[in-house]
Amino acid sequence: MTIERTFSMIKPDATDRNLVGSITAMIESSGLRVIASKRIRMTQEKAAEFYGVHSERPFFQSLCDFMCSGPIIVQVLEGENAVKKNREIMGATNPEDADDGTIRKVHAVSLEKNSVHGSDSLENAVIEIAHFFNDQEIHP
Ligand code: GDP
Repeated sequence: MTIERTFSMIKPDATDRNLVGSITAMIESSGLRVIASKRIRMTQEKAAEFYGVHSERPFFQSLCDFMCSGPIIVQVLEGENAVKKNREIMGATNPEDADDGTIRKVHAVSLEKNSVHGSDSLENAVIEIAHFFNDQEIHP
């Protein structure tokens, strides 16, 4: 059994539609535990840093503007195979391709406004958690 931590965000399209509870319930139903959570606003600087891997993509500025357009919820999730499990319950990046019952299939609006973010590897999870949380804010 591998207990891991992963990083999750509930994006502005979802906070705007009052879906924080619904999405968190889907996460918790999967067996993952929310061990840190806060509601914040992204800055352009933080969004550009966070999505730096996409800086050359045509949608980069639109994505950064979207992520700054309203509050987001940042969370640390813990559980067995947390990185993979969270990616599974999120569903594919494009909600049109997402499996039935996934967060993005149920709630996402579009490829960009796709309601949630989740780390895609254990290595990135460590980096992303450190972007937003210090050890005193994480309570297993
Ligand atoms: P993720 O790991 O499933 O979130 O997907 P990526 O890391 O590939 O992309 C990061 C985020 O950029 C996605 O969750 C979308 O919000 C957004 N995004 C990805 N591809 C596109 C695109 O082709 N157009 C637009 N407008 N946004 C995109």
